[in-house]
Amino acid sequence: MRLVGTLEENSGGAASCLEASAAPSEQSFDRHVLGRIFLHSAAEAARLGDTIADRLGVDPDEFAALARYLCVDSFVESAGKRELAPEDEELMVRTLLMQNRSADGSVGQWLASIVARRALESNHLWEDLGLATRGDLSKLLLRHFPGLAEKNTRNMRWKKFLYRALCEAEGFSMCPSPTCDSCAEFHICFGDESGPSALARTARNGGAC
Ligand code: SF4
Repeated sequence: MRLVGTLEENSGGAASCLEASAAPSEQSFDRHVLGRIFLHSAAEAARLGDTIADRLGVDPDEFAALARYLCVDSFVESAGKRELAPEDEELMVRTLLMQNRSADGSVGQWLASIVARRALESNHLWEDLGLATRGDLSKLLLRHFPGLAEKNTRNMRWKKFLYRALCEAEGFSMCPSPTCDSCAEFHICFGDESGPSALARTARNGGAC
């Protein structure tokens, strides 16, 4: 597929961005995680015949700016527009994240859109973002959405935590118990979400991303 070729031809820029993460600055961390997210979504789009913008949950302007930030401008032409309107759930998570941004600026805005979109997928959130570890997602959320992420004092699964925060913000709860400790769903909200990344699993199984 042409997009796969484009990915291979142009991933050098993203790879450079990933290499830049060797420097332990906060900005290089942002570039590192956004580079991983971008490549993961581009590979997924190629596999599913979808647009990268749909997989990332960003509009064309955001996509173009993100591609420039990651030194992969040549993706812009093949990115396509979002073909599906965002679901209500996605818009609500995005709004929640935007309300808790640590700073104005593009990176937090991109991440709010991307995290909200990727939270619709079925795996652990860090896996569906294409990150290497859950720790990278924790760092990302604490860095860019501290007012929200710091409330996850008991290390709840991040996707569960976001949806629970959304419920509370709307003034209702779908929890079956008044306290987590006595809840039959404790293992769902707080179960281990570590393990090999989706990329590592796919590589181990010999499949394409
Ligand atoms: S463990 Fe139960 S009470 Fe706690 S957040 Fe999950 S569903 Fe709600």
